[in-house]
Parts: sequence; structure tokens; C-alpha cells
Amino acid sequence: MSLMPNPTQRATKLFVQTFGTKADNLYLAPGRVNLIGEHTDYNDGFVLACAINFHTVIAARRRDDNIFRATSEAYPDDIKEWCFGEEGCMDPQDTWANYLKGFTHAVAMAGVESQGMDIAIVSDVPLEAGLSSSAALEIAFGTAMNDLNQLQFSSLAIAQLAQRGETQFMGRLCGMMDQMVSALGEQDSALLIDCLDLDDEAVHIGDDLSLIIIDSSVQRRGLDDEIDLRQQQCQQAADFFGLDALRHLRLQQLNDAKDIMEPVLYRRARHVITENQRTQSAARALEQNNMPRLSQLMAESHASMKDDFDMSAPQIDTLVKIVQQVVGNQGGVRMTGRGLGGSVVVLTSHELSDAVVSAVEQQYPQQTGLEAKIYLCSASNGAKRINQPAS
Ligand code: ADP
Ligand code: MG
Repeated sequence: MSLMPNPTQRATKLFVQTFGTKADNLYLAPGRVNLIGEHTDYNDGFVLACAINFHTVIAARRRDDNIFRATSEAYPDDIKEWCFGEEGCMDPQDTWANYLKGFTHAVAMAGVESQGMDIAIVSDVPLEAGLSSSAALEIAFGTAMNDLNQLQFSSLAIAQLAQRGETQFMGRLCGMMDQMVSALGEQDSALLIDCLDLDDEAVHIGDDLSLIIIDSSVQRRGLDDEIDLRQQQCQQAADFFGLDALRHLRLQQLNDAKDIMEPVLYRRARHVITENQRTQSAARALEQNNMPRLSQLMAESHASMKDDFDMSAPQIDTLVKIVQQVVGNQGGVRMTGRGLGGSVVVLTSHELSDAVVSAVEQQYPQQTGLEAKIYLCSASNGAKRINQPAS
């Protein structure tokens, strides 16, 4: 058990140390894990993901001018400063603050005025492990800015502004999943999100199920380039059929065109179409606590990411196999996140979770030479303001 103070206490302290005064309020936003529905969001498809009990906490104080000052425990002694609506404040070297600048930029572009803030950031979401520490950061920040300045944005609007900041300001293509889940997550539930109209439905996760995330420690080299390539290929496949997005393509139509399409585009499109079907089926299987069906759908999703989307990695396949041998048809397991490494997600009964942990601890280092990090999680609520702890 860790003796480290929790993120709320640490954020409170970091704020006072940095700015020499107390924060007005504290805000938190969770990381997320995607249960199924991979590379479907930017194809206007479906995802089934949940917010997790790992959070980014922001201690914030409203300012009377339009200056923002930010510090993060993850980047000690690095205080960033910019103004609301400032053109050209984006600094390519300055990656972490760009997530915040992107948000303020998106608010300004929406024609809404805001005062500045001082903020101190502390997070227990592992960075760059596929659990969306970036969305947790954006949404905690957006929630703070919205509340302190009474901007009246809904949680969905905050998610949209965060996504817009990342795409338009930072130039990173991303769908809406991460931000929506961090903003709108519900305790003990996964969210089925329709990325076309941004509808979401909470699907209860059975009380007897454990949610386990296993970080493979596989370095993901060249991931951004591969993701860009997949997005282009998906768009090319949609263009081939004269459609806006692969969401609108039926499997039969695709199969009819198989012989006249580039094989790689055919496989990319097949992943997206079948993944959308699996994701909707998985929501129903989860609702009915039908573990054999959920296990099958998650196994098929993993195989499709590996074979049709070419986004798995040998060590990840080994990890998935180790877990599958323990859970059989009583647990879903698949690589989660964009791929080429990162984490594996497992949903299985509480009785099997200890066996999963010991199998991974024993076999994964033996078979791959890597150590995995295992996180026992639960599905959490989305972003909110939290009360100041007594100091
Ligand atoms: P993921 O979202 O999967 O964790 P990303 O590469 O999308 O990985 O986002 C990680 C980046 O987000 C970090 O490199 C950093 O720039 C920023 N970030 C996330 N959490 C924090 C934090 N607590 N403090 C400062 N920056 C953060
Ligand atoms: Mg991210």
C-alpha cells in the first residue's frame, strides 16, 4: 500500500507551493479504458469504453486578468504562461501545455470570453500508457475553467471543445471517445458511444466482474505515423464507395467489391465494419452479463486488430494468450488503445482475477523478457468539482 498522499492533497500542496496562495477549488477527471470498438471513432462508428478510477486533479484559482499559469507535478519546476485568445502561443517543444492552450483556444474560437486561472496539476493516470492521461488533463482543465468562469458549457460541450483543441490547435487527429468518456463516464458502467451523433448509453458492468488493465511495457515506435496511415486508408476505402465514412458501409457491399479493391483497403474496411457490429453486440452481452459471448467478441476484436488492421505486437499477442488460458470463455481480453503495444484490458469474474494476475506475473517476463504493470480498476464517474480537503 502506497504511503504517498492522494492526488487531491498533492494538488492542493503544489498549488500553494507554486503560487503562494490557496486554490479556490479542486476538479478531477478520469482516464479511460476502451473495452471494445478500436479505430471506429474516426469512422463515425461505435465504442464501448469506461472511465476508470485513476484521475487527474487540478487545483485552480480564478484570476482577474486573462492570464493562465500552469504547473504539473509530472514536469517539476516548469511553469507555463499564456493569455486567453493569444495567437501563436502554441510551442511545438512544449507538448504538455499545448493540451491546455488548445482548450482555451477552442473556447475563444467558440466566441466565448473567459478570465484566466492559476492551476496545479497532479495525476495518477499513467502517462502514455493508452489510458488517456491527455483527455483526463483536458477535461479536468475544461471543467475547472467552465466552473470558475461560469461559462455554462455542458459536459458534452467541454468534451467537444477539448477534442477541437487537440485537432485544430495541436493538429492531432482524434475522435471524441477519450474526451466524452472522461467527461460523461458513469460509475460501474461502460458508455456505448455512437460517434456519429455523439449519443451515449450507460451499460452496467456486472457487480461480479473485475476490470484489469495490464500495461505491456511494449514501446510504441512510430505509432502516430501508423495511426495517420490507418485514417487515410479508412478514408480512401470510404471514398471508394462514395461514402462520408466507413460507418455507412455494409459488409455485403464490401465483400461484393473485394476483387476490385486494393487488398489492404479491403482489410481495413472489414475491421471497421465488423468492429462496429461487435461493439454493439458487446454492449448487449455486457448488459446481460453473458460472459461467453463477451469473451468471444473481445477475442474476435483482438484478432481483427491483429490481422485486418495490422496494429498488434508479438508481446501483446503473448499477453492476450496468457490471460485467455486462465479465463477461457469466462473473460474478455484484448489489446486496448490504438495499438502496436500499450495495454491489454481484461473483464472477468472476481474469482478469476487473482489467477490472471499471477499467470501474467509469472509467464509474461519469462516469455517476453518484459515486466507488465497491472492495474486493478473500477468504472468511475466522469469529471467533477471536488470539495477542498481540510488543510
Ligand atoms: P495517453 O493519453 O494515452 O496517456 P498521450 O500521448 O495521448 O497518451 O498523452 C500524454 C501526454 O499528455 C503527455 O505526454 C503530456 O504531454 C500530457 N499529460 C498527460 N497528463 C499530464 C499531466 N498530469 N501533466 C502534464 N501533462 C500531462
Ligand atoms: Mg491521449
